[in-house]
Amino acid sequence: MKHLNSIRMITFALILFSFLAGCSNDTEQTSAKAEENEPQPILVQGPMPIEAENFAGRLDNVEEEQSGNFVFYKGTVNDYPVIVMKTGKGMENTAAATAISIEKYAPAAIINQGTSGGHDPDLHVFDIVLGERTVNLGSLKTGHLEDGEGIAPKEWIPMDLMASEGSAGEDPDAENIRYFKGDQELLAAAKAVKDTHEEGKVVEGTIGSADVWNNEVDRIQWFHENFGSSVEEMEGAAGAQIAKAYDTPYLGIRILSNNKTNDGEYNPDTAEANQDYVYEVVKQYISTKAE
Ligand code: SAH
Repeated sequence: MKHLNSIRMITFALILFSFLAGCSNDTEQTSAKAEENEPQPILVQGPMPIEAENFAGRLDNVEEEQSGNFVFYKGTVNDYPVIVMKTGKGMENTAAATAISIEKYAPAAIINQGTSGGHDPDLHVFDIVLGERTVNLGSLKTGHLEDGEGIAPKEWIPMDLMASEGSAGEDPDAENIRYFKGDQELLAAAKAVKDTHEEGKVVEGTIGSADVWNNEVDRIQWFHENFGSSVEEMEGAAGAQIAKAYDTPYLGIRILSNNKTNDGEYNPDTAEANQDYVYEVVKQYISTKAE
């Protein structure tokens, strides 16, 4: 009798357990479905406070999140989810912030924007470059010189760290310039609103990045001639490399805050002007997504 009771108890417990398991499975499926219907957010990156906070201030329904040094302002533009990220300056911050943001938010697209220094003498402070291509200007291999033979930076050659998994020091295939292409849809949205930027012109070009601020005009010209760089900054290529690794659409949009090649003095007000333009680009991109 006792034996029969315990069998009944176990059977009841098993039925109850499978019923509860079934229930929790259902709720998991419903919430996953709700997430699927959420549109994927657009991410807008800015390195310094002056390069991110203006845009963040224009978001509706903002919530702030933080990971490490990185601040995420999660909000909406025209009811579409947009996340502004303050990444901090430089390649390492940008690469890490980009990877974390892709893992956390699965964005539809990423715009990396901010200030830059001109390499092209035809570009002036307040002009904007759309990154048709982005390139790492710090990926270089020096020539072979012996003790006491000095250094010869103009002889340095490009190094493509993505060429293979083998040694970039030995591999002749690695002696090429690696360009990351800007996403065509983002580029089209940016081109469509060029006229909204009144303080300067908007052109397509090549954004060069490294953790270096170049003030030697001959060196700047060397990059301009050998890498085709229109401007330099410290983030774009790092974000582009990670976005490519995850197959996430990416575009750099950089305003000139200075240009050593034509005496363009540094003007921090350019940071806000660029965010005003990028706000128009984001609205345009959202409207094409809705179609
Ligand atoms: N004005 C500050 C520098 C800011 S650090 C100083 O002199 O200490 C550089 C930041 O501005 C980076 O986020 C970079 O992307 C951008 N930048 C603007 N002009 C640049 C230039 N000529 N070279 C490198 N980075 C530049």
